[in-house]
Amino acid sequence: MADKPHQNLAVIGHVDHGKSTMVGRLLFETGSVPEHVIEQHREEAEEKGKGGFEFAYVMDNLAEERERGVTIDIAHQEFDTDSYYFTIVDCPGHRDFVKNMITGASQADNAVLVVAADDGVAPQTREHVFLARTLGIDELIIAVNKMDLVDYKEESYEEVKEEVIQLLKQVRFPSDDATFVPTSAFEGDNVSEASDNTPWYDGQTLLEALNDLPEPQIPTDAPLRLPIQDVYTISGIGTVPVGRVETGVLETGNNVSFQPSDVGGEVKTVEMHHEEVPRAEPGDNVGFNVRGIGKDDIRRGDVCGPAEDPPTVAETFQAQVVVMQHPSVITAGYTPVFHAHTAQVACTIESIDQKLDPASGEVAEENPDFIQSGDAAVVTIRPQKPLSIEPSGEIPELGSFAIRDMGQTIAAGKVLSVDE
Ligand code: GDP
Repeated sequence: MADKPHQNLAVIGHVDHGKSTMVGRLLFETGSVPEHVIEQHREEAEEKGKGGFEFAYVMDNLAEERERGVTIDIAHQEFDTDSYYFTIVDCPGHRDFVKNMITGASQADNAVLVVAADDGVAPQTREHVFLARTLGIDELIIAVNKMDLVDYKEESYEEVKEEVIQLLKQVRFPSDDATFVPTSAFEGDNVSEASDNTPWYDGQTLLEALNDLPEPQIPTDAPLRLPIQDVYTISGIGTVPVGRVETGVLETGNNVSFQPSDVGGEVKTVEMHHEEVPRAEPGDNVGFNVRGIGKDDIRRGDVCGPAEDPPTVAETFQAQVVVMQHPSVITAGYTPVFHAHTAQVACTIESIDQKLDPASGEVAEENPDFIQSGDAAVVTIRPQKPLSIEPSGEIPELGSFAIRDMGQTIAAGKVLSVDE
């Protein structure tokens, strides 16, 4: 795996705009879908008399196969280009996509935003772009999708492109860096091959744009931080926590600590892509086994780090938050659910310390009584259960979170400081 760098890619966008179809198309056109799955799908599509591929189907099929197979592999889709190995870090087919995106996007280096040409910017387009911005996605590639439904018209493409540029400006995403591609995931236009249907477009295909993304910075110097996604029991091995190495390295023989569960031991084996490896680096999805750790000792939301420099557990923390959408006002005492890396913990906003000017970031008001949609603020937060979180200035990967309430993401933020 060492011949090309890794990119963790999030595919974001409004429901039904074609995320699953695009992921399926990318996997298919890069030869990453097993032949028999395509064959079976082709037969079914023919029976139904369908023109293009329903890639959501291929995705479901792959998920089923994985469930039957060895469980140590994490539910990730992979493909490669000349420059990179890509891992899709969330499954767009899932029902609660935003929730996945919060745990997924904080791990993603870059993202593809899918916007349907016949619908334009929709509520979840806004929500996902906002989250991508707050959670530190570096670069966006925007697929203006379903071009077949607008007769491949350049005006329709330009209209949607302009809407997206306005949105990027609103959240202060550096829109100059964003690449736009007119696509049809369903028909396969401009995904891996330049389409004859868009003669007015002479830019990159989606795969070319992916191939040209800047290389992610690999934070191997920082201490090991590995948020636990799941804990499996595998016969012959024992308890196998799985997750993605965010920073540092994990090596067999290391003494590690899981926080906040506060247990630890020596790393016996590390496995990646079904193979034992001596060491794992940032971006690697691993399953590993730690001497003396049972399934009930640790849980999703724990963070694994070196025993001598364990992950920080916050008594309280200060954070900068941006309120995206809240039906009324947020006051001290409010206790929504915080999603930070793989953890979900109810946290109380103890005090609202400063309201910030959202454009300049300067202090606009000390100790305001409340904040509301559109406001940025510095707040003090008390987790209701132990939560491992780090100042984003020290370990950015472990320093961001989203706040969810009433089934939607209402705010996102980053950690300024932690009181242990
Ligand atoms: P998601 O919810 O964003 O993952 O969207 P899906 O990939 O499930 O797509 C939603 C529907 O739109 C499905 O019926 C797809 O077949 C269809 N679809 C996706 N991409 C395209 C496209 O480029 N053109 C057309 N005509 N339909 C598409």
